[in-house]
Amino acid sequence: REWYVASYAPIGVPNSDHIKLRTVTLSLQADSIPHGNVAFQLLYVSIDPYVRTQLSGLDDGLSLPQIPLGQVMRAFGIGKVIRSKDTNFSEGEIVMSRICPVAEFGVLPSNLLQKINPAHGVALPDYLSCLGMPGITAWVGIEKIGNAKEGSNVYISAAAGGVGIIAGQLAKVKGCRVVGSVGSDHKVKLLKEECGYDEAFNYRIETDYDAALTKYFPDGIDVYFDNVGGKMLEAVLNHVNHGARIALCGMISEYNKVWTEREGVRNLLNMVGKEVMMKGFMIGSYYNHFEEFIKEMEVHLKEGKIKSKHKIYNGIESFLESLASLFSSSNVGKVILQVAS
Ligand code: NDP
Repeated sequence: REWYVASYAPIGVPNSDHIKLRTVTLSLQADSIPHGNVAFQLLYVSIDPYVRTQLSGLDDGLSLPQIPLGQVMRAFGIGKVIRSKDTNFSEGEIVMSRICPVAEFGVLPSNLLQKINPAHGVALPDYLSCLGMPGITAWVGIEKIGNAKEGSNVYISAAAGGVGIIAGQLAKVKGCRVVGSVGSDHKVKLLKEECGYDEAFNYRIETDYDAALTKYFPDGIDVYFDNVGGKMLEAVLNHVNHGARIALCGMISEYNKVWTEREGVRNLLNMVGKEVMMKGFMIGSYYNHFEEFIKEMEVHLKEGKIKSKHKIYNGIESFLESLASLFSSSNVGKVILQVAS
């Protein structure tokens, strides 16, 4: 079974009109697998907001190519090798790819696969969260772009999600004062009680963002890790300190709208007077830092300074539900689909 694009979703949360599950025949006999390819059974699929942006069907400023109609959805995933036509890969090995088909089984050229040798005590889903793409995204935003230092006032939006929950904890390790915004009181509690955040607030209740930032940042914001864009980004610009850094990681509040309906930012002038640096980044451009990141992250995990949290959905049939869940405030931590055990 595999999920494919049946029609595009320029606005709103994608539903069963847009992506559908179908059964296809995939021969996994050794002689039907091309030379240099590997067949695998999918174990886990990473559920990420960018997947939705590939369904807009519009060329409107999003940087990832649209998935053609009728084609299978693709995502980061972890699988177990079941047949190999590359002598470097053997049956039973665990592999990861950033373009796994969202399906129960897949075949990919071996150069698109990376082996995983799970370290003792590390759960496989961690390679799709704190030790994988969301982890390095958080690290780049805090360390390389945000240049967060001891004492910096750091603000993280979507702070309990896959990226945000790691970003905030990394900033705490660096000795920053960290505040996060989230969409439920349960997450506010979790950030403060389990993840070491100094403060957190529910943006669905404290809807006057300007007032909330006045309250939670009496000394202004030095680093903003932006996961949501829109009105929140505009409010932040009224609270930045001189020389502040803004890491533009994503803008999930705007993904379900066509660009003419997206929220604008009217106060960019704050950036001029306060000499603020705002930088967008795509994590694919930072994978040359992966080893540096992993070394640091493994130490933090071992010392218990960073905790990883997952929300696991079960079964290939739950893909649509898990993707749609990213646009509510229902999940804590990294959303992952478990396809097989
Ligand atoms: P999350 O796990 O954080 O899931 C999304 C969360 O966003 C939801 O749980 C919800 O939490 C919040 N959210 C949803 N809709 C809105 C809205 N309208 N306004 C405000 N918040 C909303 O996702 P990730 O951690 O995987 O991704 C976070 C951001 O980082 C996304 O924008 C994503 O596109 C981006 N990203 C960018 C990368 C890059 O290379 N630049 C790489 C990876 C991710 P709640 O409402 O409770 O806060």
